[in-house]
Amino acid sequence: MGHVALHPETLLARAGGARQGTGEVVPPIHPATTFARRADGTPSAGRVYGRADNPTFDEPEALLAQLECGEAATLWSSGIAAGLAPFQCLAPGDHVVIPRAMYWALRAAVVEFGRTWGVDVDVVDMTRTDELAAALRPGRTRIVWVETPANPSWEVTDVAAAAALAHAAGARLVVDSTVATPVLCRPLSLGADLVVHSATKYLNGHSDVVAGALVTARHDEHWDRLVAWRARGGAILGSFEAWLLLRGMRTLAVRMRRSCESARLVAEFLAGHPAVAEVRYPGLPTDPGHRLADAQMDDFGAMLSVRVRGGEAAADAVAGRLTVWLRATSLGGTESLVEHRAPVEGPTSEVPRDLLRLSVGLEHPDDLIADLDQALRGATP
Ligand code: PLP
Repeated sequence: MGHVALHPETLLARAGGARQGTGEVVPPIHPATTFARRADGTPSAGRVYGRADNPTFDEPEALLAQLECGEAATLWSSGIAAGLAPFQCLAPGDHVVIPRAMYWALRAAVVEFGRTWGVDVDVVDMTRTDELAAALRPGRTRIVWVETPANPSWEVTDVAAAAALAHAAGARLVVDSTVATPVLCRPLSLGADLVVHSATKYLNGHSDVVAGALVTARHDEHWDRLVAWRARGGAILGSFEAWLLLRGMRTLAVRMRRSCESARLVAEFLAGHPAVAEVRYPGLPTDPGHRLADAQMDDFGAMLSVRVRGGEAAADAVAGRLTVWLRATSLGGTESLVEHRAPVEGPTSEVPRDLLRLSVGLEHPDDLIADLDQALRGATP
């Protein structure tokens, strides 16, 4: 039988199933923390200890590598753990460039890490290639970080352009593709070296696992260092969580398609609403990132933000009146979530005080829109 290149939907739907030997259509969970050696002391199946080796990781990691068009992937205990790992493999005196618009807690962690570990951190508007070019220090810059679309403004960054600039300076391009997922965008194919996911979000998709993932374009020495760092640092996922993650991923493609469709409808509704000052969604033709997103993504994602007329108090009141949208942090689950972002990020936040972040889930779009309408009507003076 000839080799058939399967679509991502097919790979996802059957992930880990049809197992040789048992015929099981779903994979097992491997809880073992250690692995018996042969009489001569050599590992019997190449595995030694649970902090470094876990067979439950094999299938989700192989699937992620395949979906992202990379050579290898690793699972981590959280998205933050996965995201910090490339920085933790740097040396004092190294330099990195990160975007102003990125997941705020990770940006804060990188800035803090830079201070304590002696790594120079420059923060730029990553949507502007001139700002990135000016910040690069050839021979010293090791990491350029891109998050696209970026939380919570959903700014879109040109991955290919950033990769070209980073590579010319001798740096690696790392892309946080949590919001796009491999269903919508494959940054490694656009020139990135590493992709990061908070697998807590769309990959798992059911708000019941905290997990992270790194995927590499090349299985090289740098990758070996990252994998070794996971075993040394110990930020590993549990077996049950890895299994749940793969189960969630089976429906990733269909969840993304439905959420994107609903997000478009929600964004169009909000863009015409009198109580709304601004909608940020790359799928709207008026959004500054629209053309770029259209070029480098297969769809525009299911995250959007809205600025409510009347300021911070009005935004807070709208979030409080919603009943179908749950008021909670995070994103990428089956349930739609709303978050008044600035108070969550604290007094140093640069996010507009009137901004609500919306994660569009799998409910009927009419219900989501009706709920937004009643909550916004209450805000109209
Ligand atoms: N990257 C993005 C874009 C995120 O939204 C988040 C979490 O909200 C993270 C990384 C961090 O992931 P985790 O919460 O799994 O540590």
